[in-house]
Amino acid sequence: MDCIFCKIVAGEAPARIVYRDDLVTAFHDLRPAAPVHILIVPNRHVATLNDLTPADETWSGHLLETARRLAAEQGLTGYRLVLNVGAEGGQSVFHLHLHLVGGRRLQSHLGLA
Ligand code: AMP
Ligand code: ZN
Repeated sequence: MDCIFCKIVAGEAPARIVYRDDLVTAFHDLRPAAPVHILIVPNRHVATLNDLTPADETWSGHLLETARRLAAEQGLTGYRLVLNVGAEGGQSVFHLHLHLVGGRRLQSHLGLA
């Protein structure tokens, strides 16, 4: 499958990996929207949140917990988590990913800006 995030998980494409375990991988976003911009992805290919099944509950909770821990490690007390779903939701890479964004004052409106 030609999925860039699967390739990153498999170590077949370059990325600045921050963390990885059996369920998830975290790496720096190529085009950061803030001083800290990390993507956390399930190691298993899941295109969008709409494709989740009950079998995915193990890693989906772990995704949030990983975000919380990485934010703490980065010294962030406030930050934003963004999960774009589908093209209409602004998703451009179709391997589910959670954006962890912080390190500057974020506006209160929705979005990464
Ligand atoms: P989204 O619009 O929610 O699908 O976000 C996709 C994100 O993936 C964007 O912020 C891109 O900058 C980022 N991105 C795309 N390709 C790569 C890559 N090879 N390594 C790291 N981040 C990437
Ligand atoms: Zn994938």
